[in-house]
Amino acid sequence: MIYKGFNTKAVQSGERDYNLLDTVTFPIFQTSTFRMNDEKYSDLNGRETFFYTRINNPTTRVAEKKIADICNGSDAVMFSSGMGAISAIFNTFLEEDDEVIMLKEMYGGTYKLMKSKFERLRIKPVLISVNDLENLEDYITRRTKMIYVETLTNPLIKLVDIQKVSEVARKNGIISVVDNTFMSPYNFRPLEFEIDVALHSTTKYIGGHSDLVGGVVVSRDLEIIQKLLEERSTIGSNPSPFDSFLTIRSLKTLGLRVKRQNQNAKILAEFLNDHPKVKKVNYPTLYKKIPDCFKSCPGFGGVMYIELESFEKAIEFMRNLKIIIEATSLAGVESLITSPVLTTHAGLSDEELEKAGISKGSLRISVGIEDIEDLIEDVKRALAKI
Ligand code: PLP
Repeated sequence: MIYKGFNTKAVQSGERDYNLLDTVTFPIFQTSTFRMNDEKYSDLNGRETFFYTRINNPTTRVAEKKIADICNGSDAVMFSSGMGAISAIFNTFLEEDDEVIMLKEMYGGTYKLMKSKFERLRIKPVLISVNDLENLEDYITRRTKMIYVETLTNPLIKLVDIQKVSEVARKNGIISVVDNTFMSPYNFRPLEFEIDVALHSTTKYIGGHSDLVGGVVVSRDLEIIQKLLEERSTIGSNPSPFDSFLTIRSLKTLGLRVKRQNQNAKILAEFLNDHPKVKKVNYPTLYKKIPDCFKSCPGFGGVMYIELESFEKAIEFMRNLKIIIEATSLAGVESLITSPVLTTHAGLSDEELEKAGISKGSLRISVGIEDIEDLIEDVKRALAKI
């Protein structure tokens, strides 16, 4: 491992040391334990006190500080996965008899978590559709504790009015949580709209190379951060130092990667939208109207939803592709494609799919950083064969 430029004192000082954060390389403290001293015993809960990796680790700590900075937060807590981060948020802030307003169109893993845990804990999910957001306030009762949304819905790529969520939550003293995974902090930062808690699956854009699994929660409220830290240490959902190291590596190119994905996705969405064999394309640059909070975004990331004539045609098209790979994740440097009917929405009846607005001929494409000419050629060739 590389130990160049590491400054133990700076890490342990508790100050945000920009020299340290700017070092070209950062070591992986792939160790479970650290030598103790009197200073550490006197501040066991300090964020810059390192004695046991489940509680705190210097490599993870540097990644957290960098992510807090780019998300415009005060601090961050990293987890072993995006789901680890979401579980920690629910475990920390929800109690028996609380109500949580959530979007019906939430990520499948979050839906599964809600289904399996909320009933047992007697927490009531109030599920609304993106179209109901205009009347968000009508769903608030005196038991509402949290509003939980995603910036972009999956797989339909609908934009959620984060400003509205923030305003309603603030007015009613409710905690607001935004899963910003699909937008990435390069394109959008919920904390700038006074959202209390922003989270990302770092497996996606922040990691960006399809070689790590992780999650992160960022906030401007240090009490929230402290509670999440306690939850992480208790449950043991900390990331491995190696994944934190990979995250630090990835952050160096986050802007470059996402900027390119924004550009590639916009061009590909326009191409597909004009193609006679493609029935529908959902991608924000094609929308006539978008919520004001997204008007100054540099882009909308690489993920789009398309519909072909039938399930069979969609699968044939997907398997004709040579560059775009059939795989379920998203946001990496390589372009991926998946059928929601086979993955995120597998097992749903025709009626349920229709209700969710998902066509059997649908596909989700996550555009990478390849040359756009090659991607267009790939889809052109694959469409010509169906
Ligand atoms: N949130 C969103 C929007 C996701 O798409 C995912 C995973 O696909 C997650 C959370 C969960 O992240 P992870 O797979 O890192 O647990």
